[in-house]
Amino acid sequence: MKGPGLYLDGVSVVFDGFRALNNLSLIVDPGELRAVIGPNGAGKTTMMDVITGKTRPTAGTVTFGEHDLTRMDEARIANLGIGRKFQKPTVFDALTVFENLELALKAPRDPWSCLRWKLENTARKRIEAVTEEIGLASRAGDPAAILSHGQRQWLEIGMLLMQDPDLLLVDEPVAGMTDQETEHTAALLRRIAGTRSVVVVEHDLEFVRALGSKVTVLHEGTLLSEGSIDTVQNDPRVIEVYLGR
Ligand code: ADP
Repeated sequence: MKGPGLYLDGVSVVFDGFRALNNLSLIVDPGELRAVIGPNGAGKTTMMDVITGKTRPTAGTVTFGEHDLTRMDEARIANLGIGRKFQKPTVFDALTVFENLELALKAPRDPWSCLRWKLENTARKRIEAVTEEIGLASRAGDPAAILSHGQRQWLEIGMLLMQDPDLLLVDEPVAGMTDQETEHTAALLRRIAGTRSVVVVEHDLEFVRALGSKVTVLHEGTLLSEGSIDTVQNDPRVIEVYLGR
């Protein structure tokens, strides 16, 4: 099942007179994988902050399916199924891969569902499915402390998947990764996006190419170009402000 679509309509964010986002409109379809690129200061982080409710737009609206997120607080937005992965992984070193994933899982609230959930071993099944999905099934019993940088990033993506989000926002996932880890991450995000929308902010253009997704280029808070990686890389406006530097 694919979740709701994300719509940003004419979103502006003004900090002390400075326009971090300027009339930005963007649609991410249900189940879509989208890469967002742009030079430093282009507004990528502000865009993610607006979607998660960390920053309120000065103008415009943000909608997720039928939900208007524009004035909603962060906790409610997260509860609607929007997960965010920041650049730095925040896994628990002393805990195993399995235990980290277990911590991220929320048990059902009502007692009967919770009992059935326990009797049917739902947690274990779910954790095993996610360790498989993130490629860490053989490391389930290892403490997070001994994982490589890439594996820690995948574990954190797994922790977000435990909550079954409809939209996952991922901030520069491959910074500091080896080529092989970068490839694994592209494949992982492509797989995840089959059942939920994924928005990835990234600098590494080879990685963006490997994602094979539609690319949005931001510049000075506005949408500069949109299309396949080849389309945007050949767009003269993009070459001028970003790739030609
Ligand atoms: P990116 O993630 O693309 O590098 P950002 O969204 O972080 O860009 O920043 C866009 C612009 O907004 C930058 O010029 C930045 O200095 C400014 N900005 C971001 N957050 C704030 C803030 N809280 N107060 C003032 N200016 C900010």
